[in-house]
Amino acid sequence: MASKRPQTGSDGPAARRRKALRRCAAQEADSLLVSRPEDVRYLTGFTGDDSVLLLAKGSACLITDGRYDEQSREECPDLEICIRKGPMTTAITDWVRARSAARLGVQAEHVTVSLLGRLRRGLRSRKTVPVTGLVSALRVTKDDSEVRAIRRAVRAAEQAFRELLGEGRRGFVGKSERAIAARLDYRMRLAGASGPSFETIVAAGAHGSLPHYRPGSTVVRKGDPVLIDWGAKVGGYCSDLTRVVFAGRIPPEIARIYEVVLRAQRAGAAAIRPGVRMSTVDRAARNVIAGEGFGDKFVHSLGHGIGLEIHEAPGLARSATGRMRSGMVVTVEPGIYLPGVGGVRIEDDVLVTPQGARKLSSLPRDIAAMTLQ
Ligand code: ZN
Ligand code: ZN
Repeated sequence: MASKRPQTGSDGPAARRRKALRRCAAQEADSLLVSRPEDVRYLTGFTGDDSVLLLAKGSACLITDGRYDEQSREECPDLEICIRKGPMTTAITDWVRARSAARLGVQAEHVTVSLLGRLRRGLRSRKTVPVTGLVSALRVTKDDSEVRAIRRAVRAAEQAFRELLGEGRRGFVGKSERAIAARLDYRMRLAGASGPSFETIVAAGAHGSLPHYRPGSTVVRKGDPVLIDWGAKVGGYCSDLTRVVFAGRIPPEIARIYEVVLRAQRAGAAAIRPGVRMSTVDRAARNVIAGEGFGDKFVHSLGHGIGLEIHEAPGLARSATGRMRSGMVVTVEPGIYLPGVGGVRIEDDVLVTPQGARKLSSLPRDIAAMTLQ
């Protein structure tokens, strides 16, 4: 094992691969093609692109190409590495046909119709078996090393935000949304991030009512609320935070919904406990917002898992059927959006523990702390 992989309380990639293969058997496949890049990384530690992992009893092979020859051997010393010379499909089918595997599991949520067709032709008498949710079911709870990486991603995002806030109003008023986003991204990299974990949202004034707004050339004016949704990526893992900052007098409608959203966020986080239904957690926050008459203005679910991807299982939604488990890391992010006026969303990242939600983020949330001088 490479020394940079902490082992305490964490499954190394080899243990994860054994679990994946066991789950594979339950879906009636005797081998598995892992093609989703985040799943490949999770099961191998390999951080490059355009590569797949093949698993069968007693063997694990990373198929990559010449660009990753050195890197793959360094990152995955315990894997068989195949540097393909021809098409990926040929390398996969050759590997399967050289083994006794008769039923190759393929990731139904990731493999394209075109790849599946080519695999089927190349495998001839051997079968492909679509498998679903197999690796994501393993990734849904985080081990110690993953929680540490997410904490680092939270810290990098928070440090960058604190620095930006430290500039006061002059860091915002007269600056474009895009310029503010660029400065936040730059500071996250200086704070140790490999980059932002998604495209940073900076929404000035009424733009705050668009939950997935893209920052543009609009300039922040004195008195504008500015909604910022950002996150950092560290060691492949994501953080995801949202705050609304105020560059002057706070519009009364916004101050009103700010208080409601904050209360809803506290209620949502307080409802988190292992064994509780995800839909119950969503409802705990939604009831606060609906009780104040803004039910139809909370247009998304309460939160989502974060990890190697910015949005991953579990989803804290009204329609979610699963239950919370210890080790999940989720966002809690209620929002109220008033078209033409603006919006408020407050988002933090929490780890689910036997005692309930433990906040991984530490930025203040009260409106006074978010008001720039
Ligand atoms: Zn977010
Ligand atoms: Zn989010």
